[in-house]
Amino acid sequence: MALLVYKFGGTSVGSAERIKAVADKVKKAHELGDQIVVVLSAMSGETNRLIALANEMQAQPTEREMDVLISTGEQVTVALLSMALHELGCDAVSYTGAQVKILTDSSFTKARIRKIDDAKLRADLDAGKVVVVAGFQGIDEQDNITTLGRGGSDTTAVAIAAALKADECHIYTDVDGVYTTDPRVEPKARRLDHITFEEMLEMASLGSKVLQIRSVEFAGKYNVALRVLSSFKEGSGTLITYEESQMESALISGIAFNRDEAKLTITGVPDLPGVAFKILGPIAEANIEVDMIVQNIADDATTDLTFTVHRNDYQRALALLEQTCADLGARKVTGDNAIVKVSIVGVGMRSHAGIASTMFKTLAQEGINIRMIATSEIKISVVVDEKYLELAVRALHAAFELDKISA
Ligand code: ADP
Ligand code: ASP
Ligand code: MG
Repeated sequence: MALLVYKFGGTSVGSAERIKAVADKVKKAHELGDQIVVVLSAMSGETNRLIALANEMQAQPTEREMDVLISTGEQVTVALLSMALHELGCDAVSYTGAQVKILTDSSFTKARIRKIDDAKLRADLDAGKVVVVAGFQGIDEQDNITTLGRGGSDTTAVAIAAALKADECHIYTDVDGVYTTDPRVEPKARRLDHITFEEMLEMASLGSKVLQIRSVEFAGKYNVALRVLSSFKEGSGTLITYEESQMESALISGIAFNRDEAKLTITGVPDLPGVAFKILGPIAEANIEVDMIVQNIADDATTDLTFTVHRNDYQRALALLEQTCADLGARKVTGDNAIVKVSIVGVGMRSHAGIASTMFKTLAQEGINIRMIATSEIKISVVVDEKYLELAVRALHAAFELDKISA
C-alpha cells in the first residue's frame, strides 16, 4: 500500500465535467488500495477573476484581505471534488489549509510554509478516506489566512508529501510532463523522462511556470519523489530525480524564458567606492527584487550600471533611480520594459566548453541583439527585445538539437 499525494491544477478542475473526471481517477487509485491525499487548485481563471475584482475595490488591495479573497477559489474545488467522490461511493473529506493547519509565516500573498500538522490527515487516511486539501493557502500564528504565491498549490502538494513521507507526489496538469521548453512557444518541444532537481530549479526560477519554484526547493530538500503528468492522458510523465547518471546525456536539457522583466540603466555615475550600493540600496529598501546586474567602466572615470527588475516594479524602480541620478550627479537614466530573458539550462554544461558561443552565434544569425548576459555553472541567460522571444527560443531549441532524442 502506497501513500500518494495527487495535485490537480486549474485546467484539470476547470469545469464540473473535469472535476468528475478527477473524481473517477482518484476513486480508481483509491480502490487499488493506495492512501490518497488530493491537493487542488482553483478552477482555471478563478484566481485571476478574484484579483481583478480586488483591483476594482482598491488601487493597492490590502494584502491580508487579498488572501481572504483569493483563497476562496480552492475552497470551492475541494468541496466539489469531495461531493463528486461521495456520489461515486468513495469516502472523502475536504479541508482548507487552515483546517489542516498548514502553518505559514505572515507574508500575505507570498507566505512560506513553516509546519504542517499531519494528525488530521493521518487519522482520515487510516480511516480509509480520501483527503482533499485546498492548495495555495495556509494560516499564520495569528489565525490569518495566507496564500503561497501564484502557482502555490504545487508547493502545498509537495509540502504535504514531505510531511506525510509520501511514496510519491504526482503533479497532474495540462501537459504530460516537463518539456525541453514551453510547448506553447515551441511545438517541437520534447517531453523529458527525467530532469534533475538542480535543473528543474533553474528552469522554474528562470521562468518555466510548470512548477512553482518553492515546490521544487521543498522536493529537493525533503527528498520527495516528484512526477509531472497529464490529467488527461495516460503516461509516465517526467520524474524529477537526483541522479545525473539517469539523465539523457544532453549538453543542455531545456530552455526557459521570462516575460516579466524590465531593465533600467544609469549612466555617467562618478566611479567611486560604494556607488553600486548607493544605486541599488534604495531599490532593495523599497522591497524591489533585482535580478541581473551589469556594471561597465567608461574611460572618463564614470561608470554605467544596468539591472533588471520584475515588470510590475518597473515604474517604481525608475522613479527611485531618477532620484539617485540627481543625488549622485550622474548623467541620465534610461529604461526598457519590453524585454525578456531567455535561458538555456543543463548540468551537461559543466563539462563542456563552447556552449555560450553556440548560443551567441545562433542569436546573431537570427539578427537578435543581446542586451545583457548572465551565466552560472548550469545556465546561460540573455536579455533580448520582447519581440524576439519566440524566434530566440525556437532558434536555440534547434541549435541545441533539443527536438532530437540524444544518444
Ligand atoms: P496548472 O494549472 O496545472 O498548475 P500551469 O499552467 O501552472 O498548470 O503549468 C502548466 C503549463 O506550464 C503548461 O501548459 C505549459 O504551457 C507551461 N510550461 C512552461 N514551461 C514548460 C516546460 N518546460 N514544460 C512543460 N510545460 C511548460
Ligand atoms: N490558484 C492559484 C493560482 O492561480 C494557485 C495555483 O493554481 O497553484 O496561482
Ligand atoms: Mg501551476
